[in-house]
Amino acid sequence: MLYSLRMYVDTHCHLDFAAFDSSRSELMSACLENNIRHFLVPSTTYESWQKVTQLALIYPMWRVAFGLHPYFLHSESIMNVEKLGDTCEQGGAVAIGEIGLDFWPDAMDVEVQKHFFGAQLSIARELNLPIILHARKSYDVALKMISDANHTSGGIVHAFNGSLEQAKRFVERGFLLGIGGTITYPRAKKAHRVVQQLEDQAYVLETDSPDMPLHGFQGQMNTPLNIPKVAFCLADLRGQSVNDIAKQAKTNLLRLFPEWYGDER
Ligand SMILES: [Zn+2]
Repeated sequence: MLYSLRMYVDTHCHLDFAAFDSSRSELMSACLENNIRHFLVPSTTYESWQKVTQLALIYPMWRVAFGLHPYFLHSESIMNVEKLGDTCEQGGAVAIGEIGLDFWPDAMDVEVQKHFFGAQLSIARELNLPIILHARKSYDVALKMISDANHTSGGIVHAFNGSLEQAKRFVERGFLLGIGGTITYPRAKKAHRVVQQLEDQAYVLETDSPDMPLHGFQGQMNTPLNIPKVAFCLADLRGQSVNDIAKQAKTNLLRLFPEWYGDER
């Protein structure tokens, strides 16, 4: 009985990736059997938008987002961004993403990234959609751009690993912090301290499948089946029950996406 109270959502998983092509249906069945019932699938490139749209028709438990990921921008992205608004409307997007800024040394030129992030923030504003934010070494710049763009519909900071102060600033702006497999690593002391101090309203759970394997599973493909392990780890760190964590994550998600579950409340 208690178990059925615990329903999980993976708020960031790339289930459209080719890595899942041979196992997608079985994986979705296994997730449902384990009470992992909803999935937010963000897209990364223009090339992936159509596949994400088509798969979402097959898997009604998916919610989708469209966007141009900063790390995968290329010469034609300039044309593709013009099609983003229509794609979101036609494909029933719940958010724009994943978009943002990636200041990793081998990523695209910073000014080019800022241009695309700004353009996609404008579209989010026009459509009044939240964003799925990918930000690496760029939280302060991303926050400033979000604020300058007067983006008020919030979003999710994917794989949040910033400071408590940055966490607070995102939450004040209507963002949720995506907590994933990073916290399962014993050496992730800074992340542990931050998630221990987050307010209840701040977080949702994610795996970033097929990437970001959990501690003990390095080298293996990550899947949404691992979302309960993230929840157990977070429960342990916060000294709460896993039921409380799952329930709170669901409540938080509903604040951002009131229509998410339809009739299933
Ligand atoms: Zn991602």
